[in-house]
Amino acid sequence: MNVIFGAPFLNPEEQVEDAVRSISYLLDNHSDYIVLFPVNIKPHTLFMDLYQRGEYHPVPIRIMADMLLDYFSDKLEKINVAWFGDRSEEGVIPPAYCRICGQRTVYLFQQYNMLETANERKIILQQIRRLECNCNANYLSEKKQGNIYDRVIQYYNLIKKRGELDEKN
Ligand SMILES: [Zn+2]
Repeated sequence: MNVIFGAPFLNPEEQVEDAVRSISYLLDNHSDYIVLFPVNIKPHTLFMDLYQRGEYHPVPIRIMADMLLDYFSDKLEKINVAWFGDRSEEGVIPPAYCRICGQRTVYLFQQYNMLETANERKIILQQIRRLECNCNANYLSEKKQGNIYDRVIQYYNLIKKRGELDEKN
């Protein structure tokens, strides 16, 4: 089963909660193979539109290490990570890599996927956590205004307005 990390209209903290809820649900329902996908922003999508307005930012992959460690450290053998920056496609904006710790994080996530036991994987995630950098804290401090319903409605209104403008031209 696939789980997305980086749902739109959410604060970074809410994005983490959202992924944690989805993974927990799958584990509770005996899913043995879960793949966590951080959002890659593709052309002609809602994500790209939000991104171009400055309302969506690529998710930093390092947060996923903390999330997996904090919530699923004894179930890691069931959770794989894909499209975390190990490959790229033209026109697609991958998850964010910090200039300081990004390269190392990508390398460690590659190792993570190659290992099989929860314990081996946990050690890799702990190595990511220990990388000296404060990019996680910066990311998590970002906040959006209003509740999720207001944010979505606001966005729909914006699309509507743009549609009306297009019709006039
Ligand atoms: Zn960093």
